[in-house]
Amino acid sequence: MASDNKSGLICSMCGSRSSASQPVVRVFEGLNLCTDCIAFIDNARDTQLKQQKTSKKGEKTKNSIPKPQEIKKFLDQYVIGQDSAKKYLSVAVYNHYKRINQNIDDDVDIEKSNIIMVGPTGTGKTLLAKSIAKLLDVPFTIVDATVLTEAGYVGEDIESLLTRLLQACDYDVEKAQRGIVFIDEIDKIARKSDNPSITRDVSGEGVQQGLLKLLEGSVVLVPPNGGRKHPEQKMIAVDTKNILFICGGAFDGIERKIASRLNTHVVGYGHDESGRKKKRENLMKYVLPMDLKSFGLIPEIIGRLPILTSLDPLDKEALRRILTEPKNAITRQYKKLFELDGVDLEFTEEALDLIVDKAVEFKLGARGLRSIVETVMIDAMFDVPSIKTKKFVVDAEFVKEQLEKAHFEKTTIKD
Ligand code: ADP
Repeated sequence: MASDNKSGLICSMCGSRSSASQPVVRVFEGLNLCTDCIAFIDNARDTQLKQQKTSKKGEKTKNSIPKPQEIKKFLDQYVIGQDSAKKYLSVAVYNHYKRINQNIDDDVDIEKSNIIMVGPTGTGKTLLAKSIAKLLDVPFTIVDATVLTEAGYVGEDIESLLTRLLQACDYDVEKAQRGIVFIDEIDKIARKSDNPSITRDVSGEGVQQGLLKLLEGSVVLVPPNGGRKHPEQKMIAVDTKNILFICGGAFDGIERKIASRLNTHVVGYGHDESGRKKKRENLMKYVLPMDLKSFGLIPEIIGRLPILTSLDPLDKEALRRILTEPKNAITRQYKKLFELDGVDLEFTEEALDLIVDKAVEFKLGARGLRSIVETVMIDAMFDVPSIKTKKFVVDAEFVKEQLEKAHFEKTTIKD
């Protein structure tokens, strides 16, 4: 192999001209490659070899994929309600990993089933995705779609979302290729109007176009440290064929699109505010791919997210259960913290009701439960370890006092 920086050899793969930083070498007559492309081919070959080994191993691991009912049961431990979303997710995840472990010589190719979850913020979309990753013990990452922009513009390259997945498993490419990526706020990259754009829409439609190849599965070059790609950087080739993408978004206002499709008049002028709201919230259940399209997702993206499911808004009862029931419920965490100091912590029923009422009153949803409990508990956390007590009871009076003392209402109302 002779390298010739001055001769102006051109890489047969990427078309770049030989330079001091990226020499192009003649592999044989008619084939010249730059160092980047050689690294890419090396990487891709390694990946393929590893994959062949994995699919042979697949036969052995087949039995270890939890069944949909087992997946749902596991999710029940962490996520309250959302039965429909749990069911869809359980089936999709089961099929996904069955597909990964499918024999390569099977004649039926099972298609990849990425998922999209539609539902108000703070209802458990991220928690569901996180819990699934925990169950399967696969690398998991959450990325925010809003930071991504089309290549060449301010923001992060789309491929950089795989950087975080690689980081989550110490750059073990093989592991990353079986991981789960949760893309949050997918609704924020909706195109601004239902018509294909005339002007460039670099953070909306452009990003959707860029996401396509990742979602459907292809080998992409990932910058190891994220951000923008630059020519001197060594890239890591990652095949996204077996990466499961779960997208989530609140899709504010999609109810109107659903309503107009269903021909119901809910956007409206009724005087019964609560009745109207309820009706609106329930509409999310009827979401169909065509509603996502009217919202501004391009049909190609929708086609690559074949599993569509919705989450219910959390009512008081759900919030109340979230406080105490999940395996890592916030009140359980505090009980544990106190237990480590030899103190038995108890929340009275009235105290829990009041915490839920405050979360509803300030429209803080499930996320607010934590900040309320934290505000309530700060003094106790500070004092209790130093005073000799065996039991600490949090009652409604105490909750009220602590919130008033912390000016909780004033600090949260701005939101
Ligand atoms: P989003 O739907 O915006 O992704 P998250 O999953 O991030 O919401 O929820 C925020 C927090 O609220 C979670 O960390 C969790 O503590 C709590 N939470 C939300 N929904 C539920 C639920 N259905 N069951 C249990 N906890 C929940």
